[in-house]
Amino acid sequence: MYKAENYTWFRQYFIRLLFAVVLLFVAAQFGCSLCSCTVAQRHRIPDKLVVLAFDDGVKSQATIAAPILKRYGFGASFFVTDAAKYLDAWRDENYMTWDDIKNLSDDGFEIANHTGRHAKADKVTKEQFRAELKCIEDLCRQHGIPEPKTFCFCAGAYSGRALEVLQEKGYLFARRDYRPELPYIETGRIGLVYDPAEDHPLLIPATAMAGPTCGYDCLVQAAEMATAGKIAVLTFHGVPDLDHPWVNTDPAVFEKFMKYLHENGYTVISLGDLTRYVAPTKGHSDPFEPIARRLGISSEQVRQTFGEQAQEIKH
Ligand SMILES: [Zn+2]
Repeated sequence: MYKAENYTWFRQYFIRLLFAVVLLFVAAQFGCSLCSCTVAQRHRIPDKLVVLAFDDGVKSQATIAAPILKRYGFGASFFVTDAAKYLDAWRDENYMTWDDIKNLSDDGFEIANHTGRHAKADKVTKEQFRAELKCIEDLCRQHGIPEPKTFCFCAGAYSGRALEVLQEKGYLFARRDYRPELPYIETGRIGLVYDPAEDHPLLIPATAMAGPTCGYDCLVQAAEMATAGKIAVLTFHGVPDLDHPWVNTDPAVFEKFMKYLHENGYTVISLGDLTRYVAPTKGHSDPFEPIARRLGISSEQVRQTFGEQAQEIKH
């Protein structure tokens, strides 16, 4: 009798304890699913992490580059303008149509904003910059393409005003080239490797701009900079680029370099895919400070030179 009572007592408490453990486990799982965007849930930045960016909506990006990217399962961002408005001086047949852009989106590539008219961010007002972004956002919506969440500054020109608008509109990441730290051409076009601990997420520098002065060896050298928590951001224009010979990439060089990335175990992603590894709030709270430090001048000087009367940008 005594033993039976003891057993009942034990069974009651054991079941309660078991129930509590199960409840805690479920709560933990539920909690984790709710916070899937927190830093704790992000992947550690691996070595050999490369972002691929294609600028200006050049036709050969859809006809030649994208099929090669698909073969290797690589991600990439296509920074498009509204070619119909931008094409004054260029030939229409050299640019993607919105059907081409929609196909890229359907294939899983990221469609990103490069302004409606390829506007230089330091030459437009806030209102004009908002309108430039909206142009591409509206066109994406009209064509059933997800609205862009990443941006690329045209011709390397940025401003504090533009940063503020990008923040207001909830853009996650924005890319520039490697100016002003390095001159545009003379360095063989290898720039700065993106350091998420330092660089502001809306002023991510390009590591290399592919072109006649940055071919296969240059691109390999840039990719190899992706170590120790840093990410190589590699920018292409046309593959080939008939309208812009100074950023032309030979298709054979492109194919060889993609093969190199594949055979050497690189992780190749779009700019938007960075959210898997980097919180869009990471980086220095003053966006101009890392640039100023590299140039050996004050943040205020960078702001005056490149940001005009920009207000303080904080996360
Ligand atoms: Zn451009």
